[in-house]
Order: sequence, then C-alpha cells, then structure tokens
Amino acid sequence: MNNYNIAVIGSGIIGMTCALQLSKLNNVNVTLFGKEPQYSKHKTTAILQTSFNIFQDLISLKENDTIISALIKFKIIDQLSSTEKILEFYSSEINLNAFAYNVSDTDLSTLLIKEILNTDNIKREKILVKKILQDIDNIIIETSGKKETFDLIIGADGRNSITRDFANIEYTRKKYKENILITTIDHKEDHNGTSYEIHKNGSLLTSVPLSSKKSAIVYINDKKNIESFIENKKLQNIFNTTLSPYLGRVEMNSNFSELPSEVVIADKLAKNRVILVGESAHVFPPLGAQGLNLGIRDIKELYSLLAQNRDINPGSKVITNKYNEQRWLDVYKRHKSVNLLYNSMMENKTRYKILRNIGLQSLNKSKILRKILLSQGMVIEKK
Ligand SMILES: Cc1cc2nc3c(=O)[nH]c(=O)nc-3n(C[C@H](O)[C@H](O)[C@H](O)COP(=O)(O)OP(=O)(O)OC[C@H]3O[C@@H](n4cnc5c(N)ncnc54)[C@H](O)[C@@H]3O)c2cc1C
Repeated sequence: MNNYNIAVIGSGIIGMTCALQLSKLNNVNVTLFGKEPQYSKHKTTAILQTSFNIFQDLISLKENDTIISALIKFKIIDQLSSTEKILEFYSSEINLNAFAYNVSDTDLSTLLIKEILNTDNIKREKILVKKILQDIDNIIIETSGKKETFDLIIGADGRNSITRDFANIEYTRKKYKENILITTIDHKEDHNGTSYEIHKNGSLLTSVPLSSKKSAIVYINDKKNIESFIENKKLQNIFNTTLSPYLGRVEMNSNFSELPSEVVIADKLAKNRVILVGESAHVFPPLGAQGLNLGIRDIKELYSLLAQNRDINPGSKVITNKYNEQRWLDVYKRHKSVNLLYNSMMENKTRYKILRNIGLQSLNKSKILRKILLSQGMVIEKK
C-alpha cells in the first residue's frame, strides 16, 4: 500500500478534529498547519447527539464529563406577532437522551491539542501558510522560510480561507445587518437542561445550558441596536426582563464578545488536490446548532472516502470529485434552510410572517411534523 502526505491548513476545532480522524488511516502522514486557536471565553458549541461520537472516539469525551452540559429540551417563545406562541421540544420525542451537548470551545480545543501531541503521525507546524503552489502531481505549501510537498491539502482555515483562494474556488458572502453578541449569565433557578429561544421582531435571544445555574447567551440584533444597548448599559436589563420568567433573576457577565452575522458558501467543496471542510466551505448565523456539526459531517465523509480507497492517491480527481458530490447536497440544504429561518425571524416581511405562522401552528398540532423537523435538524439517518 502506498503512503500519502496530507496537509490540514488551520488548527481550529475542525482542523484539529480532521487531523486526528485522518491519523487513524494507516497509510497517511498528516501535517497540521496553524497557530493554537484563541477562542472567546464565552464561546460554546452545542454538539448534536449525532456528531458527539467523533469526540467520544478521538478524545474520549463523555456525556457526563464536568465540562459538558446536556441540552434535553428547547423552548421557543415566539413574540413576533401580538399573541405570544410557545413551543416546547423534548429529546425523548425522538428517543434521544439529549439533543446536544454544550461545551466551551476553549475546553474542547485543549483536549484536541493534548491528543494531537500524543499522536505520532501528526506533525504540527505552528505557523501560518503564506502560499499554495500547484503542479500536476502534487501541491506545495509555502510558509515563511520553507516549502513542503503534499498529495492533498485540506482547507480548514475558516471563513477567510486562503486555501479556498489559492485553489480558485469561488464563493458567495452575504453580510447581514445584524451582529452576534455572546456572553454568559448566572440565574437564580436551574435551567434543567433547557435552551430558551426568544424570537422578537428583528432579534433572537438564545440561552444554552452550562452548569446548573449558568447559561451561555447568543444574542442576534441589528448592529446599531446592539451598539446603543452597550453604550446605555441596557443589556443586563434586556436579558433579565426577557429570561427571568423562565430562569429567575438573571445576572449578565460584564464581559462579552461581538461578531458579524454572515453567510459564506463556496461554489465547490473541492478542486485541484484541495478539499474544503468546516467554515472555509460554509458559514451560517448560529441557529439550530448547524455550523460545527456540518463540518463534522464533512470530516466523517472525507475519512470514509479515504478509508475505502486506500490505494488511490487522496488528491486525485476521483477522490476530490466524489467528496464534492457526496457533501454538496447536505451543505446546500443547510444553507437554504438556515437562511430561510434567519430571514423569517429578522425580516419584517409579510411573506416570511405567513410562512412562520403556518409553520409554528402546524408544529404545535402535528406529532409527525415535529418528528420530521427534529430528525432533519439532528440529521438522524434512517436505518
Ligand atoms: C456565536 C456562535 C455560536 C455557535 N454555536 C454553534 C453551535 O452551538 N453548534 C454548532 O454546530 N456550531 C456553532 N457555531 C459554529 C461553529 O462555531 C463553527 O462552525 C466552528 O467553530 C468553525 O470551526 P472551523 O475550525 O471551521 O473555523 P475556525 O474556528 O475559524 O478555525 C480556523 C482556523 O484556521 C486558522 N487559519 C486561518 N488562516 C490560516 C493560515 N493561512 N494558515 C494556518 N492557519 C490558518 C485560524 O487561525 C483558525 O484557528 C457557532 C458560531 C458562532 C459564531
């Protein structure tokens, strides 16, 4: 069997997970490029039950670890029209112990780094890639000072990917008028594993369980509104008024981070010995825990493709075209559905309002529809 050299560019959560997963193939050497990631201490990720197994296998993460908080129920409080609508979903409706497991990005990346250091066939290059050069047989990575040759390059270098640019993969980017503010809150009552989503015209406030009386906050609103709330010190009051009916008195952490709300989608997921995974291929606003989970599915597909074709060069067209074919529909479907949902919450247009109302009423009445929606959101495969 031939041995192949694969480079992963970007050592965020997706790049590190990808490097660890591919290191399980016995005929590849992986080089991971990139500096250690620095995440905001407020940034957490809800890993869907259906993606959690990759972390169980690679870093022995368990559902009951102290750094993990299970999300077993979510409650949508829709205040877009004059009458408030409340929808509750339980993980038991689709026979799961939890919808997702929430973990801080810093905790997760610390575990991934530790495992990478213990893995022989991953070489770490803690530097930024400057340039990618190509010839027919292989692809060359240039960093400050040296050039290295690979059979395949995996771009895991996030939304501003240089891998995508050097491979000449076109992409669409749309910046929304909203920003995303993240922080944490302490609350008087236990969240009991519940995530709350409060939809108001033009804004979405989500709390995601951390330890029993602590939750992570993701707040999406017009940039100008967020700026004015910060300037006038109104955030504490907004979070307390909105969430205290469910969580008791709320105290906001005095620190927060702000990010742009945007969507990016690459026209192709692979080209000329380059494969894109994670945010280099697709970025969405944080709704329904889809972003990282979609990236995990990229990694799983890539791994199974390489495992089934160990005698074929991983950078060859057979592999890169197949990866593109097998991942495209999932990426495209998420892109469309997340954006439709986002617009229906943020845009005050009648057609979106009608769609929403029909959707919410149907979901409240129909068990079958609820099951379909939950299974689609969780990407539960039919056996
Ligand atoms: C507020 C918020 C909440 C979210 N919540 C969830 C959730 O609950 N569930 C979920 O599934 N998803 C969620 N997401 C999405 C999820 O966080 C992202 O999809 C995921 O973190 C993307 O990881 P990544 O590794 O692809 O990109 P990144 O984390 O951006 O990593 C890219 C890495 O590449 C490196 N890099 C860039 N250029 C180079 C170069 N030239 N050379 C070397 N390295 C380079 C960067 O330094 C960085 O470390 C959320 C997103 C946001 C903003």
